Amino acid sequence: MKEIDWSNLSFGYMKTDYNVRCYYRDGKWGELELCSEETLNIHMAATCLHYGQEAFEGLKAYRGKDGKIRIFRPEANAERLQSTCRGILMPELPTETFCEAVKKVVKANERFIPPYESGASLYIRPLLIGTGAQVGVHPAKEYLFVVFVTPVGPYFKGGFATNPYVIIRQFDRAAPLGTGTYKVGGNYAASLRANKMAHDAGYASEFYLDAKEKKYIDECGAANFFGIKDNTYITPLSTSILPSITNRSLMQLAEDMGLKVERRPIPEEELTTFEEAGACGTAAVISPIERIDDLENHKSYVIAKDGKPGPVSEKLYTKLRAIQYGDEPDPYGWVTVLD
Ligand SMILES: *Cc1c(COP(=O)(O)O)cnc(C)c1O
Repeated sequence: MKEIDWSNLSFGYMKTDYNVRCYYRDGKWGELELCSEETLNIHMAATCLHYGQEAFEGLKAYRGKDGKIRIFRPEANAERLQSTCRGILMPELPTETFCEAVKKVVKANERFIPPYESGASLYIRPLLIGTGAQVGVHPAKEYLFVVFVTPVGPYFKGGFATNPYVIIRQFDRAAPLGTGTYKVGGNYAASLRANKMAHDAGYASEFYLDAKEKKYIDECGAANFFGIKDNTYITPLSTSILPSITNRSLMQLAEDMGLKVERRPIPEEELTTFEEAGACGTAAVISPIERIDDLENHKSYVIAKDGKPGPVSEKLYTKLRAIQYGDEPDPYGWVTVLD
């Protein structure tokens, strides 16, 4: 095998040895299968190809200083996938099957888990698709669950740093009572144009306001938003944002650090009052926000006045990473250690 250059990994796809598959047929889930084939052979009338019966998840495995492999909160991803399945009428995969599949694929690809010192990790991508043929708009009768993995580099190559974001009003990611709370590919298709506009204009990502009134903060691209002020961690309450497991974990850690935690609608104007803000998700844990530009209204909300991440964000980031890599105790049982 060719040596992997752990220090130069990006967030891309690298072929690994195995993936794990599980088929749903005749009203029940089958056994987990270890597979070395990278492609899927599915019917051209599969509902995932026509009517968007597709759900995915994202989580990571980390190699600790002690050499042990840790997977962060797989049960939470299993539960979120079940919620997505209810949302688009797919059969729910039991939490135990999900976690077994994740452990199996990580173990089978152990040689792709980056060393502790690299700051890199193994990205785990579960997906569940409707494979049954259907031309009328109905849920499929057959489904396939797949989990594959790929090593990914540390998000911050040059160290923890801030980024600019831009409010996009021309496109919505999800409708107020749409599929925003579910992790479905359709939401990403809907976000591609806004994301491209933001990137073309030199921003890290697009920033969404609520689709109905365009008054409240929703999400930062494919990450949740939080703001810090007056010793309080504030994150939006909305019917169209994806419930981030990173955000949920940070809320707990913020509380443990003695911050108040508020989950409520955040009007755009409140952006002027935050001492710190960040985008959070599995990829970066926290991506601190430098500023948010509202081009249509000729406004720029500068959050990191000195351009640097704030102390609370840095503390939260360091703490969560330490739990994930096993450098600090795991008081909430978030981590599954592979045996
Ligand atoms: C996956 C995702 C997130 C982040 O969720 P985590 O569980 O923290 O990785 C946030 N927003 C959207 C739209 C997502 O798809």
